Amino acid sequence: MTLASSLKRLLTGQKPSRDGGPTSRPWPGLVEQYRPWLPVGDGTPVVTLLEGNTPLLRAPALEKRVGRGVQVFLKVDGLNPTGSFKDRGMTMAISKAKEAGATAVICASTGNTSAAAAAYARRGGLRAFAVIPDGYVAKGKLAQALLYGAEVLAIQGNFDQALAITQKLAERYPVTLVNSINPYRLQGQKTAAFEVVQALGDAPDWLCIPMGNAGNISAYWMGFQEYRNAGLSKMLPVMCGFQASGSAPLVLGHPVDNPTTVATAIRIGNPANGEKALAVRKESGGRFASVSDGEILAAYQVLATEEGVFCEPASAASVAGMFKYATEIPSEARVVCVLTGNGLKDPTTALDANHANLHRNLAPEAEAVVQVMGL
Ligand SMILES: *Cc1c(COP(=O)(O)O)cnc(C)c1O
Repeated sequence: MTLASSLKRLLTGQKPSRDGGPTSRPWPGLVEQYRPWLPVGDGTPVVTLLEGNTPLLRAPALEKRVGRGVQVFLKVDGLNPTGSFKDRGMTMAISKAKEAGATAVICASTGNTSAAAAAYARRGGLRAFAVIPDGYVAKGKLAQALLYGAEVLAIQGNFDQALAITQKLAERYPVTLVNSINPYRLQGQKTAAFEVVQALGDAPDWLCIPMGNAGNISAYWMGFQEYRNAGLSKMLPVMCGFQASGSAPLVLGHPVDNPTTVATAIRIGNPANGEKALAVRKESGGRFASVSDGEILAAYQVLATEEGVFCEPASAASVAGMFKYATEIPSEARVVCVLTGNGLKDPTTALDANHANLHRNLAPEAEAVVQVMGL
């Protein structure tokens, strides 16, 4: 065992296990796993659904497209309990809200935050309010928020207006804001960077990530820096943030009044963590760029049909961005694309994009079926 790996085990509380046999410790959720790295104390009532510990999946079909020996990995964070990385932040935000005595939380949401807030708040015995842009939340996400027991307030406006409303309400009433301006959210989310380092043995050369409010890119950077400063990794990645071209305030350098994109999770015109993200770009020598809805949907399709990975459109922006800037990736570099949310969140987009593969109205006979199969 190397010094670094012993130190890593010590710091993360991992027990050595060779074979994943009965002596290996079951995953305890990310707050327990990374307790020394998080602002929690003995008295913090940890609300967890055992989030985190998501796969870092090698992507051979994407590697073939990029070429030059570049290694591509997908951080499949749609495999969290409510289907998005928001669970990483929400286990912290809800635990800390509960510790502080809150009985209700509120968020503005393009969908995933409301699903995560609802699940964790209800598990912790708190009320959950979600203010959403009416008509612009994917069906799966709305279904989740409602079923988990959130009280959903749909406004005739966009996400940015919803966030302004929730901020006002959180100032005036006894409800805790759990959007990513809540610092505990980013603390929880930084653990994804820890997992990436543990899986690769070091940070990747490039990290490609979609940006909406730009909290997640800031959280990853915090995680990579903390591990590097503790001697658990040597490198820091070039941080590449991608936005949809109809909602690209951080690329354009000014807010967008009427953001549009098929990727509703990143349909945000005035990112709450914009300043932080710009600092990340500068410090990491990173780049921000926009990708069109067409490029996003093409990457979405490639991920599903060539890698067997179903992510939501916003998540595919990371891969669309990697494709777009592929020639700038150094040969043999290691690239991690963050897949932020599960494809099942947005069945409408998947169905709309794939009508041609659905052959309907067939007679219930083998001949009729085989005819369409073309065998
Ligand atoms: C929230 C979200 C994003 C954007 O994350 P930010 O931290 O707001 O930049 C991207 N993809 C999905 C699926 C999301 O739910």
